[in-house]
Amino acid sequence: MTAERNILLDVRNLAVDYRTGSGILGGRRGHVRVLENISLRLRRGETLGVVGESGCGKSTLAMALARFVIASHGDILFDGRDVLRLDAAGLRAWRRDMQLVFQSPQASLNPRMTVHSIVSEPLVTHTRLDRGERRQRVEELLGETGLDPSFLSRYPHELSGGQAQRVVLARALALNPLLLVLDEPTSALDVSVQAQILNLLMRLQAQHNLTYMLISHSLGVVEHVSDRIAVLYLGEIVEEGPRDEVFRQPRHPYTQALMAATPVVDPSKRQVHRPLSGMIPGPASRPRGCRFHTRCPRAWSLCHDTRPRPQHVGDGHVAACHLLTP
Ligand code: SF4
Repeated sequence: MTAERNILLDVRNLAVDYRTGSGILGGRRGHVRVLENISLRLRRGETLGVVGESGCGKSTLAMALARFVIASHGDILFDGRDVLRLDAAGLRAWRRDMQLVFQSPQASLNPRMTVHSIVSEPLVTHTRLDRGERRQRVEELLGETGLDPSFLSRYPHELSGGQAQRVVLARALALNPLLLVLDEPTSALDVSVQAQILNLLMRLQAQHNLTYMLISHSLGVVEHVSDRIAVLYLGEIVEEGPRDEVFRQPRHPYTQALMAATPVVDPSKRQVHRPLSGMIPGPASRPRGCRFHTRCPRAWSLCHDTRPRPQHVGDGHVAACHLLTP
């Protein structure tokens, strides 16, 4: 299979705007750009880690991919389909092939439904399996996520956070998706449970040849499972590349600052970069020039009014910073 044919998801120049104000009592009507010029490619079976602070647009990206928010510009191509121009039937098929997993497993589960009802719901809606076949499939799915049949009759409040996330994953796998977009799938869990869920995700990926977009504020989480890393700041990708290269040689000052702030087991491997200071601006007050210049320890006059263009800095490794301009 050629590299081109191996591309499952191809996001090109995606932009998302949110409307502000109602025009009556809600202040002036307008819009703010929350994602800008996002271009990403995912190959079948790989994991792309999307990392950045809270408020950088990570969750909006997940919602835009699922078409829960409307893109203002750009294209999303998935396995030959033009996602932004699908009709209702095409959109239903897309939402079977691409499953979203959210941060809070308990909040994702209907508290009035049993685990059996929750996991079998997509099978009822989208398949013709009879009751017995559905039950068998639900037991298989629970088994794959490490839960035995005794969980079938439990309600979400009877589950721990890790068990609830396993149920969410079982439901997400019910329709044999090709792509899972995982939005902070472990951040609501205890540290020991986080590792179990990440290991489960890797096992499921190998078993089902799944493709993942893993969205996280934690470099530690994305490092554990990703093949490639994209770093998002104020709605734009500032660096993207193979995991090992980005971790060994981060080129953008924002990536460097995130790494400096990440705990390491071996202090001799700590990156000697300045940690991040200040708060990420809101999308309504995005700075001109380089979006990062208000917090960048290496900013100079050019950064204040000129946007840096992405530069190739290695094999498949791109970063947008004036320091890298040849
Ligand atoms: Fe810092 Fe300037 Fe590079 Fe932006 S372009 S990251 S402000 S050095």
